[in-house]
Amino acid sequence: MTRLVIENAAIATVDAAGTEFGSGHVVVADGRIVAVGDGVAPADEELGTRIDGTGCLVTPGLVNTHHHLYQWATRGLAQQATLFEWLVELYPVWAGVDEQVEHAAASAGLAWLARSGCTTAADHHYVYPANAGDLDAAVVDAAGRVGLRLHLVRGSMDRGESNGGLPPDEIVEDTDAALLATEHAIATYHDPEPAAMVRVAVGPCSPFSATERLMREAADLARRHCVRLHTHLAETVDEHEHCLAQFGRKPLDYADELGWLGADVWLAHGIHFDDAAVARLGATGTGIAHCPSSNARLGAGIAPVRALLDAGAPVGLGVDGAASNEFGGLGSELRQSLLLARLRGGPDALTAREALWLGTMGGARCLGRQVELGSIEVGKQADLAVWRLDGLGHAGIADPVAALVLGPQPPLALLLVGGTTVVADDHVTTVDDEALRTELITANLRLTAEAAHHWEEVG
Ligand SMILES: [Zn+2]
Repeated sequence: MTRLVIENAAIATVDAAGTEFGSGHVVVADGRIVAVGDGVAPADEELGTRIDGTGCLVTPGLVNTHHHLYQWATRGLAQQATLFEWLVELYPVWAGVDEQVEHAAASAGLAWLARSGCTTAADHHYVYPANAGDLDAAVVDAAGRVGLRLHLVRGSMDRGESNGGLPPDEIVEDTDAALLATEHAIATYHDPEPAAMVRVAVGPCSPFSATERLMREAADLARRHCVRLHTHLAETVDEHEHCLAQFGRKPLDYADELGWLGADVWLAHGIHFDDAAVARLGATGTGIAHCPSSNARLGAGIAPVRALLDAGAPVGLGVDGAASNEFGGLGSELRQSLLLARLRGGPDALTAREALWLGTMGGARCLGRQVELGSIEVGKQADLAVWRLDGLGHAGIADPVAALVLGPQPPLALLLVGGTTVVADDHVTTVDDEALRTELITANLRLTAEAAHHWEEVG
Protein backbone atom coordinates (compact mmCIF):
# COMPACT_ATOMS: atom_id res chain seq x y z
CA MET A 1 0.00 0.00 0.00
CA THR A 2 1.53 3.35 -1.03
CA ARG A 3 0.92 6.04 1.55
CA LEU A 4 1.50 9.75 1.49
CA VAL A 5 1.04 12.25 4.31
CA ILE A 6 0.72 15.99 3.86
CA GLU A 7 0.86 17.85 7.17
CA ASN A 8 1.39 21.28 8.75
CA ALA A 9 -0.72 22.81 5.96
CA ALA A 10 -3.92 24.83 6.06
CA ILE A 11 -6.73 22.69 4.65
CA ALA A 12 -10.00 23.78 3.06
CA THR A 13 -11.94 20.53 2.68
CA VAL A 14 -14.98 22.02 0.88
CA ASP A 15 -17.14 19.37 2.56
CA ALA A 16 -20.81 20.10 3.24
CA ALA A 17 -19.99 21.80 6.57
CA GLY A 18 -17.18 23.86 5.02
CA THR A 19 -14.64 22.31 7.42
CA GLU A 20 -11.23 23.99 7.46
CA PHE A 21 -8.05 23.40 9.46
CA GLY A 22 -5.50 26.14 10.14
CA SER A 23 -2.80 23.48 10.37
CA GLY A 24 -3.89 19.97 9.51
CA HIS A 25 -3.04 16.75 7.72
CA VAL A 26 -4.30 14.64 4.84
CA VAL A 27 -3.33 10.99 4.47
CA VAL A 28 -3.53 9.29 1.08
CA ALA A 29 -3.35 5.55 0.48
CA ASP A 30 -3.70 3.76 -2.85
CA GLY A 31 -5.09 6.81 -4.57
CA ARG A 32 -7.76 7.66 -2.01
CA ILE A 33 -8.04 9.91 1.02
CA VAL A 34 -7.92 7.80 4.19
CA ALA A 35 -7.63 10.54 6.82
CA VAL A 36 -8.03 14.30 7.13
CA GLY A 37 -7.91 16.31 10.32
CA ASP A 38 -6.42 18.91 12.60
CA GLY A 39 -2.74 18.97 13.61
CA VAL A 40 -0.12 16.46 12.49
CA ALA A 41 -1.00 12.93 11.37
CA PRO A 42 -1.45 10.43 14.24
CA ALA A 43 1.89 9.09 15.47
CA ASP A 44 0.82 5.49 14.96
CA GLU A 45 -0.13 6.19 11.36
CA GLU A 46 1.72 3.77 9.11
CA LEU A 47 3.57 6.37 7.13
CA GLY A 48 5.01 6.42 3.67
CA THR A 49 6.20 9.67 2.16
CA ARG A 50 5.82 12.65 4.51
CA ILE A 51 5.37 16.08 3.01
CA ASP A 52 5.76 19.21 5.12
CA GLY A 53 3.04 21.60 3.94
CA THR A 54 4.13 24.57 6.05
CA GLY A 55 3.07 27.78 4.28
CA CYS A 56 0.67 25.91 1.99
CA LEU A 57 -3.09 25.54 1.57
CA VAL A 58 -4.51 22.18 0.51
CA THR A 59 -7.74 22.24 -1.48
CA PRO A 60 -9.54 19.65 -3.57
CA GLY A 61 -8.17 19.54 -7.12
CA LEU A 62 -10.12 21.96 -9.33
CA VAL A 63 -12.73 20.64 -11.75
CA ASN A 64 -12.99 22.24 -15.19
CA THR A 65 -16.52 21.77 -16.52
CA HIS A 66 -16.14 23.25 -20.01
CA HIS A 67 -13.24 23.39 -22.46
CA HIS A 68 -12.37 22.93 -26.12
CA LEU A 69 -8.78 21.75 -25.92
CA TYR A 70 -8.15 21.87 -29.69
CA GLN A 71 -8.48 25.66 -29.51
CA TRP A 72 -5.11 25.88 -27.77
CA ALA A 73 -3.75 25.78 -31.37
CA THR A 74 -5.80 28.82 -32.46
CA ARG A 75 -5.29 31.47 -29.77
CA GLY A 76 -5.12 35.22 -30.27
CA LEU A 77 -7.44 35.41 -33.29
CA ALA A 78 -10.65 37.45 -33.77
CA GLN A 79 -9.67 39.63 -30.85
CA GLN A 80 -12.53 42.17 -30.95
CA ALA A 81 -15.32 39.84 -32.12
CA THR A 82 -18.70 38.86 -30.73
CA LEU A 83 -19.29 35.11 -30.37
CA PHE A 84 -20.92 34.76 -33.80
CA GLU A 85 -18.26 36.91 -35.52
CA TRP A 86 -15.54 34.97 -33.71
CA LEU A 87 -17.05 31.62 -34.76
CA VAL A 88 -17.42 32.67 -38.40
CA GLU A 89 -13.76 33.71 -38.46
CA LEU A 90 -12.53 30.56 -36.73
CA TYR A 91 -14.64 27.77 -38.27
CA PRO A 92 -12.51 27.79 -41.48
CA VAL A 93 -9.32 27.53 -39.42
CA TRP A 94 -10.76 24.67 -37.36
CA ALA A 95 -11.66 22.85 -40.59
CA GLY A 96 -7.97 21.86 -40.69
CA VAL A 97 -7.97 20.12 -37.28
CA ASP A 98 -6.63 16.59 -37.46
CA GLU A 99 -5.41 14.08 -34.89
CA GLN A 100 -1.87 15.52 -34.73
CA VAL A 101 -3.15 19.05 -34.11
CA GLU A 102 -5.66 17.72 -31.59
CA HIS A 103 -3.01 15.74 -29.72
CA ALA A 104 -0.58 18.66 -29.54
CA ALA A 105 -3.24 21.18 -28.50
CA ALA A 106 -4.86 18.87 -25.94
CA SER A 107 -1.51 17.94 -24.39
CA ALA A 108 -0.51 21.60 -24.07
CA GLY A 109 -3.92 22.67 -22.80
CA LEU A 110 -4.09 19.91 -20.20
CA ALA A 111 -0.54 20.54 -18.97
CA TRP A 112 -1.41 24.21 -18.53
CA LEU A 113 -4.61 23.27 -16.69
CA ALA A 114 -2.59 21.06 -14.34
CA ARG A 115 -0.31 24.02 -13.62
CA SER A 116 -3.42 25.94 -12.54
CA GLY A 117 -4.62 23.36 -10.01
CA CYS A 118 -7.00 21.43 -12.27
CA THR A 119 -7.26 17.67 -11.77
CA THR A 120 -10.38 16.89 -13.85
CA ALA A 121 -11.27 18.47 -17.18
CA ALA A 122 -14.29 18.18 -19.44
CA ASP A 123 -13.37 18.61 -23.09
CA HIS A 124 -16.27 19.43 -25.38
CA HIS A 125 -15.08 18.57 -28.87
CA TYR A 126 -17.50 19.23 -31.71
CA VAL A 127 -15.38 19.83 -34.84
CA TYR A 128 -14.97 16.57 -36.76
CA PRO A 129 -13.81 17.40 -40.31
CA ALA A 130 -13.80 14.48 -42.77
CA ASN A 131 -10.46 12.61 -42.87
CA ALA A 132 -9.24 14.23 -39.65
CA GLY A 133 -8.31 10.85 -38.14
CA ASP A 134 -9.32 9.70 -34.66
CA LEU A 135 -9.75 12.96 -32.73
CA ASP A 136 -11.32 11.33 -29.66
CA ALA A 137 -8.38 8.94 -29.35
CA ALA A 138 -6.01 11.92 -29.58
CA VAL A 139 -7.66 13.70 -26.62
CA VAL A 140 -7.86 10.54 -24.51
CA ASP A 141 -4.19 9.83 -25.18
CA ALA A 142 -3.23 13.41 -24.27
CA ALA A 143 -5.11 13.14 -20.94
CA GLY A 144 -3.27 9.90 -20.17
CA ARG A 145 0.03 11.53 -21.11
CA VAL A 146 -0.47 14.49 -18.75
CA GLY A 147 -2.27 12.46 -16.06
CA LEU A 148 -5.54 14.39 -15.62
CA ARG A 149 -9.03 12.92 -15.39
CA LEU A 150 -10.94 13.55 -18.60
CA HIS A 151 -14.62 13.90 -19.33
CA LEU A 152 -14.69 13.52 -23.09
CA VAL A 153 -17.80 15.28 -24.30
CA ARG A 154 -18.37 13.84 -27.77
CA GLY A 155 -19.84 16.90 -29.43
CA SER A 156 -21.39 17.25 -32.85
CA MET A 157 -22.72 19.74 -35.38
CA ASP A 158 -25.17 18.73 -38.13
CA ARG A 159 -26.78 22.07 -38.97
CA GLY A 160 -24.64 23.94 -41.48
CA GLU A 161 -25.28 27.21 -43.30
CA SER A 162 -27.50 25.61 -45.94
CA ASN A 163 -29.80 24.43 -43.13
CA GLY A 164 -30.06 27.75 -41.27
CA GLY A 165 -27.05 27.07 -39.03
CA LEU A 166 -23.92 29.13 -38.44
CA PRO A 167 -21.04 26.76 -39.35
CA PRO A 168 -19.98 26.15 -42.97
CA ASP A 169 -21.44 22.91 -44.35
CA GLU A 170 -17.99 21.39 -44.79
CA ILE A 171 -17.38 21.03 -41.04
CA VAL A 172 -20.75 19.60 -40.00
CA GLU A 173 -21.46 15.90 -39.77
CA ASP A 174 -24.34 13.81 -41.04
CA THR A 175 -26.83 13.37 -38.15
CA ASP A 176 -26.77 9.56 -38.13
CA ALA A 177 -22.99 9.46 -38.46
CA ALA A 178 -22.62 11.83 -35.48
CA LEU A 179 -24.93 9.70 -33.33
CA LEU A 180 -23.12 6.50 -34.30
CA ALA A 181 -19.72 8.03 -33.55
CA THR A 182 -21.00 9.23 -30.18
CA GLU A 183 -22.21 5.74 -29.31
CA HIS A 184 -18.83 4.38 -30.40
CA ALA A 185 -17.02 6.84 -28.09
CA ILE A 186 -19.14 5.71 -25.13
CA ALA A 187 -18.49 2.03 -25.90
CA THR A 188 -14.75 2.65 -26.33
CA TYR A 189 -13.88 5.06 -23.52
CA HIS A 190 -16.60 5.47 -20.88
CA ASP A 191 -15.61 4.11 -17.48
CA PRO A 192 -18.40 4.26 -14.84
CA GLU A 193 -16.08 3.22 -11.96
CA PRO A 194 -15.50 5.73 -9.10
CA ALA A 195 -11.78 6.09 -9.87
CA ALA A 196 -12.43 6.53 -13.61
CA MET A 197 -9.78 8.51 -15.49
CA VAL A 198 -12.00 8.80 -18.58
CA ARG A 199 -15.74 9.27 -18.82
CA VAL A 200 -17.78 10.17 -21.88
CA ALA A 201 -20.71 12.59 -22.20
CA VAL A 202 -22.92 13.45 -25.15
CA GLY A 203 -22.72 17.03 -26.48
CA PRO A 204 -24.40 18.41 -29.62
CA CYS A 205 -22.76 21.81 -29.88
CA SER A 206 -25.44 24.52 -29.69
CA PRO A 207 -28.94 25.49 -30.90
CA PHE A 208 -27.40 27.27 -33.90
CA SER A 209 -25.25 24.33 -35.04
CA ALA A 210 -27.28 21.20 -34.16
CA THR A 211 -30.67 20.15 -35.53
CA GLU A 212 -33.67 19.46 -33.35
CA ARG A 213 -33.45 15.79 -34.33
CA LEU A 214 -29.81 15.54 -33.25
CA MET A 215 -30.62 17.20 -29.90
CA ARG A 216 -33.53 14.83 -29.21
CA GLU A 217 -31.80 11.65 -30.32
CA ALA A 218 -28.58 12.57 -28.53
CA ALA A 219 -30.55 12.95 -25.29
CA ASP A 220 -32.17 9.53 -25.83
CA LEU A 221 -28.79 8.00 -26.60
CA ALA A 222 -27.17 9.46 -23.46
CA ARG A 223 -29.99 8.23 -21.23
CA ARG A 224 -29.91 4.75 -22.79
CA HIS A 225 -26.23 4.53 -21.88
CA CYS A 226 -26.49 6.32 -18.50
CA VAL A 227 -24.03 9.05 -19.48
CA ARG A 228 -24.41 12.80 -19.09
CA LEU A 229 -25.52 15.52 -21.49
CA HIS A 230 -23.81 18.80 -22.25
CA THR A 231 -24.31 21.67 -24.68
CA HIS A 232 -23.84 25.45 -25.01
CA LEU A 233 -26.92 27.48 -24.04
CA ALA A 234 -27.90 31.13 -23.52
CA GLU A 235 -24.41 32.48 -24.16
CA THR A 236 -25.28 35.61 -26.16
CA VAL A 237 -28.11 37.91 -27.17
CA ASP A 238 -27.48 36.81 -30.79
CA GLU A 239 -28.22 33.21 -29.80
CA HIS A 240 -31.37 34.30 -27.95
CA GLU A 241 -32.60 36.08 -31.07
CA HIS A 242 -31.63 33.15 -33.29
CA CYS A 243 -33.74 30.80 -31.13
CA LEU A 244 -36.73 33.14 -31.23
CA ALA A 245 -36.44 33.51 -35.02
CA GLN A 246 -35.74 29.85 -35.85
CA PHE A 247 -37.73 27.97 -33.20
CA GLY A 248 -40.14 30.59 -31.86
CA ARG A 249 -38.82 29.97 -28.34
CA LYS A 250 -36.22 31.27 -25.90
CA PRO A 251 -33.13 29.04 -25.58
CA LEU A 252 -34.19 27.47 -22.26
CA ASP A 253 -37.74 26.72 -23.43
CA TYR A 254 -36.30 25.14 -26.57
CA ALA A 255 -33.93 22.97 -24.50
CA ASP A 256 -36.76 22.04 -22.11
CA GLU A 257 -39.00 20.90 -24.94
CA LEU A 258 -36.23 18.71 -26.38
CA GLY A 259 -35.70 16.88 -23.08
CA TRP A 260 -32.52 18.79 -22.31
CA LEU A 261 -33.10 19.75 -18.66
CA GLY A 262 -32.41 17.50 -15.68
CA ALA A 263 -29.87 16.43 -13.07
CA ASP A 264 -27.92 14.57 -15.79
CA VAL A 265 -27.45 17.74 -17.88
CA TRP A 266 -24.99 20.61 -17.54
CA LEU A 267 -25.07 23.62 -19.82
CA ALA A 268 -22.17 25.89 -20.79
CA HIS A 269 -22.49 29.63 -20.03
CA GLY A 270 -26.17 30.20 -19.12
CA ILE A 271 -25.91 33.97 -19.21
CA HIS A 272 -29.17 35.19 -20.72
CA PHE A 273 -31.74 33.58 -18.44
CA ASP A 274 -34.79 35.35 -17.04
CA ASP A 275 -36.18 34.61 -13.54
CA ALA A 276 -38.48 31.85 -14.81
CA ALA A 277 -35.57 30.12 -16.56
CA VAL A 278 -33.40 30.30 -13.43
CA ALA A 279 -36.23 28.78 -11.35
CA ARG A 280 -36.69 25.99 -13.92
CA LEU A 281 -32.96 25.20 -13.89
CA GLY A 282 -33.05 24.99 -10.10
CA ALA A 283 -36.17 22.83 -10.03
CA THR A 284 -34.71 20.37 -12.54
CA GLY A 285 -31.21 20.34 -10.98
CA THR A 286 -29.65 21.27 -14.32
CA GLY A 287 -26.00 22.31 -13.96
CA ILE A 288 -24.29 25.39 -15.38
CA ALA A 289 -20.65 25.56 -16.49
CA HIS A 290 -19.83 29.20 -15.72
CA CYS A 291 -16.95 30.51 -17.86
CA PRO A 292 -16.25 34.01 -16.54
CA SER A 293 -13.06 34.87 -18.49
CA SER A 294 -14.40 33.64 -21.81
CA ASN A 295 -17.66 35.51 -21.24
CA ALA A 296 -15.68 38.68 -20.55
CA ARG A 297 -13.31 38.13 -23.52
CA LEU A 298 -16.29 37.86 -25.90
CA GLY A 299 -18.28 40.56 -24.12
CA ALA A 300 -21.11 38.03 -23.87
CA GLY A 301 -22.52 39.15 -20.52
CA ILE A 302 -22.43 38.13 -16.85
CA ALA A 303 -24.13 34.89 -15.79
CA PRO A 304 -26.62 35.12 -12.90
CA VAL A 305 -24.51 32.87 -10.67
CA ARG A 306 -25.96 34.11 -7.36
CA ALA A 307 -29.53 33.56 -8.55
CA LEU A 308 -28.68 30.12 -9.96
CA LEU A 309 -27.10 29.02 -6.66
CA ASP A 310 -30.05 30.39 -4.69
CA ALA A 311 -32.43 28.49 -7.00
CA GLY A 312 -30.52 25.25 -6.29
CA ALA A 313 -28.85 24.77 -9.67
CA PRO A 314 -25.33 23.31 -9.46
CA VAL A 315 -22.79 25.78 -10.87
CA GLY A 316 -19.23 24.81 -11.78
CA LEU A 317 -16.40 26.74 -13.39
CA GLY A 318 -15.14 26.34 -16.94
CA VAL A 319 -12.11 27.74 -18.73
CA ASP A 320 -13.79 27.39 -22.14
CA GLY A 321 -11.69 27.02 -25.27
CA ALA A 322 -8.37 28.85 -25.27
CA ALA A 323 -9.38 30.72 -28.44
CA SER A 324 -11.79 32.73 -26.28
CA ASN A 325 -9.69 32.55 -23.11
CA GLU A 326 -6.03 32.68 -24.02
CA PHE A 327 -5.09 32.55 -20.31
CA GLY A 328 -6.22 28.92 -20.36
CA GLY A 329 -5.94 28.26 -16.61
CA LEU A 330 -8.58 27.30 -14.06
CA GLY A 331 -7.10 28.62 -10.80
CA SER A 332 -7.55 32.23 -11.91
CA GLU A 333 -11.24 31.58 -12.70
CA LEU A 334 -11.91 31.43 -8.94
CA ARG A 335 -11.06 35.13 -8.73
CA GLN A 336 -12.70 35.97 -12.03
CA SER A 337 -15.98 34.33 -10.97
CA LEU A 338 -16.01 36.32 -7.75
CA LEU A 339 -15.29 39.60 -9.53
CA LEU A 340 -17.97 39.10 -12.18
CA ALA A 341 -20.58 38.01 -9.63
CA ARG A 342 -19.87 41.19 -7.66
CA LEU A 343 -20.02 43.40 -10.75
CA ARG A 344 -23.49 42.03 -11.30
CA GLY A 345 -24.77 41.74 -7.74
CA GLY A 346 -22.61 43.80 -5.38
CA PRO A 347 -19.87 42.87 -2.89
CA ASP A 348 -21.83 40.13 -1.11
CA ALA A 349 -22.91 38.36 -4.30
CA LEU A 350 -20.21 35.68 -3.96
CA THR A 351 -17.75 34.92 -1.15
CA ALA A 352 -14.22 33.60 -1.61
CA ARG A 353 -15.37 30.27 -0.17
CA GLU A 354 -18.30 30.11 -2.56
CA ALA A 355 -15.90 30.75 -5.46
CA LEU A 356 -13.76 27.83 -4.24
CA TRP A 357 -16.91 25.70 -4.01
CA LEU A 358 -17.77 26.51 -7.64
CA GLY A 359 -14.30 25.38 -8.73
CA THR A 360 -14.45 22.11 -6.77
CA MET A 361 -17.76 20.64 -5.51
CA GLY A 362 -19.86 22.70 -7.93
CA GLY A 363 -17.85 21.31 -10.82
CA ALA A 364 -17.97 17.77 -9.45
CA ARG A 365 -21.77 18.04 -9.25
CA CYS A 366 -22.00 19.26 -12.85
CA LEU A 367 -20.00 16.21 -13.98
CA GLY A 368 -21.87 13.78 -11.70
CA ARG A 369 -18.69 13.07 -9.70
CA GLN A 370 -19.76 14.53 -6.32
CA VAL A 371 -19.50 11.14 -4.57
CA GLU A 372 -15.85 10.64 -5.49
CA LEU A 373 -14.40 14.09 -6.30
CA GLY A 374 -14.73 17.77 -5.33
CA SER A 375 -13.94 17.73 -1.59
CA ILE A 376 -11.34 16.39 0.82
CA GLU A 377 -13.20 13.64 2.66
CA VAL A 378 -12.29 10.13 3.69
CA GLY A 379 -13.04 7.65 0.91
CA LYS A 380 -12.82 10.18 -1.91
CA GLN A 381 -10.22 10.13 -4.67
CA ALA A 382 -6.96 11.81 -3.68
CA ASP A 383 -7.19 14.69 -6.16
CA LEU A 384 -5.45 17.45 -4.22
CA ALA A 385 -3.93 20.86 -4.94
CA VAL A 386 -1.27 22.07 -2.52
CA TRP A 387 -0.92 25.83 -3.08
CA ARG A 388 2.17 27.67 -1.86
CA LEU A 389 1.10 30.82 -0.03
CA ASP A 390 4.37 31.82 1.63
CA GLY A 391 5.73 34.00 -1.17
CA LEU A 392 5.50 37.73 -1.76
CA GLY A 393 2.22 37.42 -3.69
CA HIS A 394 0.31 36.35 -0.57
CA ALA A 395 2.42 37.73 2.26
CA GLY A 396 0.30 39.22 5.01
CA ILE A 397 -3.06 37.74 4.00
CA ALA A 398 -4.05 35.79 7.10
CA ASP A 399 -6.99 33.94 5.56
CA PRO A 400 -5.56 31.28 3.21
CA VAL A 401 -8.78 30.90 1.19
CA ALA A 402 -8.90 34.67 0.65
CA ALA A 403 -5.23 34.55 -0.38
CA LEU A 404 -5.97 31.84 -2.96
CA VAL A 405 -9.12 33.41 -4.41
CA LEU A 406 -8.46 37.14 -4.10
CA GLY A 407 -4.70 37.10 -4.56
CA PRO A 408 -2.61 36.08 -7.58
CA GLN A 409 -2.73 32.41 -8.56
CA PRO A 410 -0.20 30.81 -6.19
CA PRO A 411 2.50 28.39 -7.33
CA LEU A 412 1.66 24.73 -6.74
CA ALA A 413 3.84 22.84 -4.32
CA LEU A 414 2.08 19.68 -5.45
CA LEU A 415 -0.86 18.48 -7.53
CA LEU A 416 -2.08 14.92 -7.05
CA VAL A 417 -4.54 13.05 -9.25
CA GLY A 418 -5.65 9.83 -7.57
CA GLY A 419 -2.58 10.13 -5.34
CA THR A 420 -0.20 10.37 -8.31
CA THR A 421 1.99 13.45 -8.66
CA VAL A 422 1.31 15.53 -11.79
CA VAL A 423 2.80 18.86 -10.64
CA ALA A 424 5.67 19.35 -8.16
CA ASP A 425 7.35 22.68 -7.34
CA ASP A 426 5.16 24.36 -9.95
CA HIS A 427 6.40 22.12 -12.80
CA VAL A 428 4.40 19.45 -14.58
CA THR A 429 6.31 16.24 -13.92
CA THR A 430 4.60 14.01 -16.48
CA VAL A 431 5.43 15.87 -19.70
CA ASP A 432 8.23 18.07 -20.96
CA ASP A 433 7.28 21.74 -21.37
CA GLU A 434 9.67 22.32 -24.26
CA ALA A 435 8.37 19.30 -26.20
CA LEU A 436 4.79 20.53 -25.74
CA ARG A 437 5.75 24.04 -26.89
CA THR A 438 7.41 22.72 -30.07
CA GLU A 439 4.50 20.42 -30.91
CA LEU A 440 2.04 23.26 -30.35
CA ILE A 441 3.88 25.74 -32.56
CA THR A 442 4.01 23.16 -35.36
CA ALA A 443 0.26 22.48 -34.98
CA ASN A 444 -0.58 26.19 -34.95
CA LEU A 445 1.50 26.93 -38.06
CA ARG A 446 -0.02 24.01 -39.95
CA LEU A 447 -3.58 25.01 -39.08
CA THR A 448 -3.23 28.68 -39.93
CA ALA A 449 -1.21 28.01 -43.15
CA GLU A 450 -3.74 25.40 -44.30
CA ALA A 451 -6.61 27.78 -43.65
CA ALA A 452 -4.92 30.61 -45.59
CA HIS A 453 -4.22 28.28 -48.52
CA HIS A 454 -7.70 26.76 -48.54
CA TRP A 455 -9.48 30.11 -48.45
CA GLU A 456 -7.20 31.57 -51.13
CA GLU A 457 -8.29 28.72 -53.40
CA VAL A 458 -11.95 29.10 -52.52
CA GLY A 459 -11.55 32.85 -53.11
ZN1 LIG B 1 -17.61 26.55 -25.27
